[in-house]
Amino acid sequence: MSVEVGLVGLIESSLINHDSVLFRMDEQEDVLTVLPQSTAPANPLGELLPPLTQNEVAVESARCLMCFDAPCTHACPTHIDIPKFIKKISTGNLPGSARTILESNLLGASCARVCPVQELCEGACVLGAEHKPIAIGRLQRHAMDFVYRKGVDFFAAASRTGRKIAIIGAGPAGLSCAGELAKRGHRVTLFEKRDLAGGLSTYGIIGLREPVEVALAEVAMIEKLGVKFETGKEVGADLSLADLNANFSAVFLSVGLGATPALGIPGEEHIIDGLEYIEQSKMDPDHLLIGRNVVVVGAGNTAIDCATVAKRLGASRVTMVYRRSENEMTAYPHEYDFIKREGINFSFLTQPVRVHSENGTVKSLECVRMSLGATDTSGRPSPQPVAGSEFFLAADQIVKAIGQQKPSLASQLKLKTEKGFIQVSENFATSLPGIYAGGDCIRARGAASTVMAVEDGKLAARAIHERLVAGG
Ligand SMILES: Cc1cc2nc3c(=O)[nH]c(=O)nc-3n(C[C@H](O)[C@H](O)[C@H](O)COP(=O)(O)OP(=O)(O)OC[C@H]3O[C@@H](n4cnc5c(N)ncnc54)[C@H](O)[C@@H]3O)c2cc1C
Ligand code: SF4
Repeated sequence: MSVEVGLVGLIESSLINHDSVLFRMDEQEDVLTVLPQSTAPANPLGELLPPLTQNEVAVESARCLMCFDAPCTHACPTHIDIPKFIKKISTGNLPGSARTILESNLLGASCARVCPVQELCEGACVLGAEHKPIAIGRLQRHAMDFVYRKGVDFFAAASRTGRKIAIIGAGPAGLSCAGELAKRGHRVTLFEKRDLAGGLSTYGIIGLREPVEVALAEVAMIEKLGVKFETGKEVGADLSLADLNANFSAVFLSVGLGATPALGIPGEEHIIDGLEYIEQSKMDPDHLLIGRNVVVVGAGNTAIDCATVAKRLGASRVTMVYRRSENEMTAYPHEYDFIKREGINFSFLTQPVRVHSENGTVKSLECVRMSLGATDTSGRPSPQPVAGSEFFLAADQIVKAIGQQKPSLASQLKLKTEKGFIQVSENFATSLPGIYAGGDCIRARGAASTVMAVEDGKLAARAIHERLVAGG
């Protein structure tokens, strides 16, 4: 009875508190069905792919041709020796397999889950032409999960060099750099402004792809290498670059990107920030309010994640709004296929112009139709409003996922930039002596991804180490 009373109240407010996951929204009839406790989904944002079974592992690893000069290894940004780790799996040597992965990529458990493998290793697998490519990501996850379950330690820090290095930002780039430097015997301190380390792996990538626990297990592994974590410390607010320069031999900036930019439309204060929406779905899902009729502005991977959160947590209708066409979407093709299967609606060539609300409650998003014109500076056709084409999209919740702002620390520290990103040399050195940078904050070209950030951290650590051992 108490559940029914609660639901009636929620229906009236048309927002669903996911706390009460004891209902199902019927898409056709737009009605709530109260489910018996036992059939309520355990975790609608739980990991999408189950672990491989022992049988699947045996079959899949035996299928690998162990190619010489393997194209899958070339396609991996961290160049993991893929045939070698698969061979070790096939012979039952899971610790050896995990060691092979970790030698190239310290965040092998995250990457096994979040890497766009269709575009990278699996996309390059020779078997893909006629058969199914090897499930490289899921085999990697099998080896990594084994060692995290067993708590196997692979790397001990080398004897102390006496050199101190500061790393700013504990996302994938910072963790990778910190771990690689600690392995080489340097004293590394990682300053992180949030309470938890892990960056977007902890707070930003939806649980469906990467549960928080996986990101935090990797943080713990880096800590075990001797890295000191100072969380809740923001460079630029709690400590300055001058402090760091005075106390450390080198500094690595891995601060990622900033908040979601403003849309700049009337009623913007009613729009929810997509990164906060996703963060709450991971860190505090019981208090995340989900609309019944949700509009997500944007068509990149973050927008897809926001739409997935809304749909899986109970919205009856989710519409993604994008000012260009399907052809210009920045989301990966496999993510677009995924979201179509989730039953999301799309409104392409559509630009929001105003949020309409009554007594603080969102009622609709006024939009205008767009047409595509000449190519703009982004290399894509520029969207132009079609005069008189304004229309209303009914919505009780609007989420914006239109990318992230450029790193503000760049201008604060007066670093040279390229398109707003921190400019670095091929050794990841910035325009200031002793200051290096990597990860999303330098990604002026190409798609930002976890594995690219890990590789930047690894290569920057090598460059810093070489400079320090050379006496620089
Ligand atoms: C919603 C979303 C989904 C994504 N999904 C995928 C995916 O499925 N696959 C994939 O490969 N990639 C994905 N990405 C991209 C991927 O998460 C990033 O490319 C990657 O996290 C970049 O790592 P980073 O270390 O450069 O930055 P971040 O992960 O952003 O970490 C930067 C860290 O620096 C800290 N920081 C910032 N400023 C300061 C300061 N002044 N002082 C101290 N600390 C500071 C931040 O708090 C943060 O912890 C996704 C991104 C988003 C937003
Ligand atoms: S390309 Fe495919 S078959 Fe060849 S080594 Fe890589 S995973 Fe195995």
